[in-house]
Amino acid sequence: MSQVPSDWEVVIGLEVHVQLRTRAKVFASSPWGFGQEPNAQVDPVVLGLPGTLPVVNREAVEKAVLFGLVVGAEIPERCAWDRKNYFYPDNPKNYQLTQKDFPVVVGGRVEIELPGPSRNVMGEHKSVRIHHAHLEEDVGKLSHAGGGSLIDYNRAGVPLLEIVTEPDLRSAAEAEAFLRSLVAMLTQAGVADCDMEKGQLRCDCNVSVRRRGDAQLGTRTETKNLNSISSVRDTVIYEAARQIRELGAGRSIAQETRGWNAELARGYVLRDKEDAHDYRYFPDPDIPALKISRETVARLAKQVPENLYDRQRRYVEKLGLPYTAASVLVADRVLAEWFEAAVAAHPANPSGVANLVANDLLRDLTAAVPPIPLSACPIRPASLAGLVKLTDEGVISKQQAKEVFTEMFNTGQEAAAIVDAKGLRQNSDTGELEKIIREVVADPSVAKSIAEYRAGNEKAINALKGPIMKRTQGKANPGLVDQLLRRILG
Ligand code: ADP
Ligand code: MG
Repeated sequence: MSQVPSDWEVVIGLEVHVQLRTRAKVFASSPWGFGQEPNAQVDPVVLGLPGTLPVVNREAVEKAVLFGLVVGAEIPERCAWDRKNYFYPDNPKNYQLTQKDFPVVVGGRVEIELPGPSRNVMGEHKSVRIHHAHLEEDVGKLSHAGGGSLIDYNRAGVPLLEIVTEPDLRSAAEAEAFLRSLVAMLTQAGVADCDMEKGQLRCDCNVSVRRRGDAQLGTRTETKNLNSISSVRDTVIYEAARQIRELGAGRSIAQETRGWNAELARGYVLRDKEDAHDYRYFPDPDIPALKISRETVARLAKQVPENLYDRQRRYVEKLGLPYTAASVLVADRVLAEWFEAAVAAHPANPSGVANLVANDLLRDLTAAVPPIPLSACPIRPASLAGLVKLTDEGVISKQQAKEVFTEMFNTGQEAAAIVDAKGLRQNSDTGELEKIIREVVADPSVAKSIAEYRAGNEKAINALKGPIMKRTQGKANPGLVDQLLRRILG
């Protein structure tokens, strides 16, 4: 990653477009989805045919409100739609319905976490201000090929939420962290799926640079239509380096709109300020302004899930989880809830449960062919808790627990049933163990280790444990062996 010279500061503001998770389009009843035949998901309203009128999709508005509540924004009582006029065939009506002056969501903040100094150490946290978020309709897709152009209106009218940040981000890493956090919040609240492969999240990236200490922001460029987090990161790195080079050479930055070529890993000018569109916005006469009742807001507030980082702090501080396990679990709400259900069944050892969930369980789910979703997990949370409990009680060793886990994963059986069927129960019969230990201790081959232990070398005791475990076929409870051995040796 190219380094920004220390006397320069990079400033980034993002405009993120996300397709909301709704059944129907934003002003029409037509369903929408990815991978359909071109123009299969259109209707007269989507096509803007004469005599049709748009009707606002309540589900889309509610998802937008829910997003606002997730980020602690203000939800004004009234929102309204405007026409953004332009003539281009991706848009069947020659205008796009959007919200210019009265958006659904005003303000709010997104907490982000920067990478720590190493994987198991928590990085710095920072709060990024949201300027506003407004609803609009997506447009169709043009393909230019073979000397002609093809139009697919399946995407036209899909509900989009445009989330606009304040210029609060200061590096490519911060932009990346912001998008990851935003995606987690949107998906965990069920507002959007954010599947970037399907174009469900696209981003315009505004970048400027200034000398460190300058109060004024520099002139920015806007790179349009980035469809992955990595291309946002690469754009910031590329643009910052380009602008610093230009300013360093005594030239100025033009406030231009740019594109990004991910294959060549370079940006290019789309249009400069002189070609700026005049969209002649005006209030849409077909859609009345919408009043968002406080009852609706209160009802949706109940759907706001626990904030990702609040949950992470709770896991680390209250449950005593290592940071790495906590951060893996909170990244996925379903996984976090699965973990919590297991902890509820065995509250004594959250770290033991977390370790199996974040490592063994996730590994085996993803390694399966095809990968198994957590919703179809062969192990239930309470069953996993049962396995941890058996280990904690010393019924089986940690090593045996791994074996039992694999068997549980493959067969869906309970831990206790597997332990019994395989005869894995550790030997905790004090009388029988004591007899074996006395025999081992009496063997002349271990006399030297015993003498060393008695002379104060703590570790020498371990040399006796091997033969004991061997005589019990590994079934002796290690804790009990240690305890008895110390007592017998005095
Ligand atoms: P416009 O109305 O022309 O789209 P806005 O002021 O609404 O411009 O800003 C659009 C986006 O650009 C916002 O995310 C904002 O944070 C960001 N932005 C504005 N000025 C700068 C700047 N000088 N450097 C970086 N980002 C900026
Ligand atoms: Mg803009």
